Amino acid sequence: MTAPAHPQYDLLVIGAGSGGVRAARVAAAHGAKVAIAEEHRIGGTCVIRGCVPKKLLVYGAHFAEDLEDAARFGWRIEGRTFEWPTLRDNVLAEVARISGIYAQTLQTHGVEILNGHATLTGPQSARIDDREVRARVILIATGARPHVPDQPGCENGITSNEAFHLEKLPERILIAGGGYIANEFAGIFNEFGCKVTVINRSDVILRGYDEQIRDRLLQISLTKGIRFLFNAPIDSVSKHADSTLTVSLRTGDSIQCDALMFATGRIPNTEGLGLDSAGVELDKGAIKVDDLNQSTNPHIYAVGDVTNRVQLTPVAIREGHAFADTVFGNKPTKVDYDFIPSAVFSHPPLAGVGLTESQARNRLGSVRSFTSDFRPMKNVLAGRSERALYKLIVDDTNGRVVGAHMIGPDAPEIMQVVAVAVKAGLTKAQFDECVAIHPTMAEELVLLK
Ligand code: NDP
Repeated sequence: MTAPAHPQYDLLVIGAGSGGVRAARVAAAHGAKVAIAEEHRIGGTCVIRGCVPKKLLVYGAHFAEDLEDAARFGWRIEGRTFEWPTLRDNVLAEVARISGIYAQTLQTHGVEILNGHATLTGPQSARIDDREVRARVILIATGARPHVPDQPGCENGITSNEAFHLEKLPERILIAGGGYIANEFAGIFNEFGCKVTVINRSDVILRGYDEQIRDRLLQISLTKGIRFLFNAPIDSVSKHADSTLTVSLRTGDSIQCDALMFATGRIPNTEGLGLDSAGVELDKGAIKVDDLNQSTNPHIYAVGDVTNRVQLTPVAIREGHAFADTVFGNKPTKVDYDFIPSAVFSHPPLAGVGLTESQARNRLGSVRSFTSDFRPMKNVLAGRSERALYKLIVDDTNGRVVGAHMIGPDAPEIMQVVAVAVKAGLTKAQFDECVAIHPTMAEELVLLK
């Protein structure tokens, strides 16, 4: 089949995840005729197999501690049990509901949904299954997928994609990696009563977060019973007739488990898109773009994880929005990547914005660090030893807060607001001028001495 001579669409978006959906919707609102191609379900990683179902599992898992703590608050709850299939199915149903809302939003904005795998056939044309379409501009927003190491037997492991669909919970699970997904799922499975071992190729968890904060997570995780093996890359994996696995490490140790989950980073989805034929260049497997999201082909743009800038949903959404405003709204917009706050939904969660203490010392020289290391009131009455840790990093030359880092209950919720102040360039003195809300955990941020 040959492609129609004239573009049928102003914009063809490939990939209906966070970045693609936002771009399609905003471009359509600017008056563009838009189609979006998706081979799976509308919503992408965040909605279908990432942030949303993960956060719901975190809520579900946290009941384990809440129910335990409830006794100290006078509540007797006899014979409590946890049914994984109930939580799993409710979460999957919620995911389906949100995916439906995304599809509906696209439709109400007049965006045509093309189900199928899209391959570029030229700079302004693509084939979606057996249908040829032409578009004035093409946006690639195909995201990323979990990386699985290629040591023998690693295909017997799962990734976060499959974790949401488990038939039953594994008694013993090994999680390879030490980043976001490893620590979030270690917390989730541990709260559900699984025996969790995290194995990491290096001796660092959550690279990029403040050292003291990530060390606190490690200490608390160990206290909760999560095992960590560091400098322990996988050598091979073998599967037995009873479906259990033996994971052999390069340290010479081997570990038996019922499931092995890889959380070893994510790789951009660039294969099978026909990028070569359209002259789109890659950089370390990701689409190379300029700061207006344009690839090396002027008709083709890319946003989100496929570009390997900052792999976070809200960043992809901003890039998608900026692209649509730039190309269809006559308003060139660059995303501001400074002071992006982020969080890890571990047990307890942690969050940060700006420079870590060591980054600040390296870059700024004269730095002051203020910390509060405290046991949240609720933990005290519950008899739970876990302590929270809050930190502000201050540039001593002008008093500005250049970094904020915390671990403790609700840290991500608190951090979102702190990030406004840090991004606005407020000083430590201005933090101190604000009256505390008592009794809260967040008040520590205006009481740091
Ligand atoms: P991360 O980049 O957070 O961590 C990857 C981990 O795997 C690191 O410990 C890394 O070790 C290790 N690793 C990398 N490559 C290999 C390899 N070849 N063999 C063995 N180990 C390896 O990745 P995740 O998979 O946890 O998450 C992917 C991305 O998704 C994150 O970077 C984040 O941007 C996003 N995400 C965000 C969340 C949030 O905002 N809460 C939640 C989940 C994901 P080393 O440190 O030594 O390199």
